[in-house]
Amino acid sequence: MSDFVMNSIARVVPNVVGSFHHRFGGTPAHRGIKPRGNSQPLHLLYTFDTRDPLVPVRVRGARYLPLYYCFSYNAGAVGYRVVSDEEITILYMETKHVEPDFPYENYPNEFPKTPVSLTPISYDEHKTLVYYLTCEDYNLHKYFSKEDRAFLKQTGYPFTQLGGIQRMWQDTPEAPCPNKQCEYHKHNCFMQVFAVVWNQPVPKVYLWDDDPKSRWEIQTIFQICPLCNSIYACNRCT
Ligand SMILES: [Zn+2]
Repeated sequence: MSDFVMNSIARVVPNVVGSFHHRFGGTPAHRGIKPRGNSQPLHLLYTFDTRDPLVPVRVRGARYLPLYYCFSYNAGAVGYRVVSDEEITILYMETKHVEPDFPYENYPNEFPKTPVSLTPISYDEHKTLVYYLTCEDYNLHKYFSKEDRAFLKQTGYPFTQLGGIQRMWQDTPEAPCPNKQCEYHKHNCFMQVFAVVWNQPVPKVYLWDDDPKSRWEIQTIFQICPLCNSIYACNRCT
């Protein structure tokens, strides 16, 4: 069964400049972001500086870990490999059909460049998050403490989380490694979730639905292959 990267657990804090060069949005720095035969590039969500020990995964040959997703391609799944800080290779597209005005009208070609930083999620905070998910799943909200509610409010949950146990609307996606040369291409149980991004990753920027109240409905999930570091991104909804 697919699982979660657990070696480092952190949340992304928007509009805070830290010691590392993390950012949301901006112009992509990589070649190879247009699927073959198409002119519409992938959308860049985050660029994480892997010199920060809070980034839970590394990619060989690159300092920066870019999170790309194929919103315009009918929100299918995409698989890619980070070749260097200047190039990615798209390994898989669920569909190459470009849906006009999707996910919503006048969808931006790129998201506004926004500095972000990472803050560790402590063992107790992680326990709070996991207990909250369980309470929600079983409709046991009343057992969730005031202190824990205050933590969610203060941190602006749902935030983008790197590493750790995460909410999965439809269980952990079971997908093979998108790299046909990889041993795990034949199996669909080894990809590990390392990031989940929600509708409003930074204030007033909407990925799926430009309604400010829409926070929870759709998640964008990023998984990595522990053997070859190829990335698989997809979405799931309630
Ligand atoms: Zn692989």
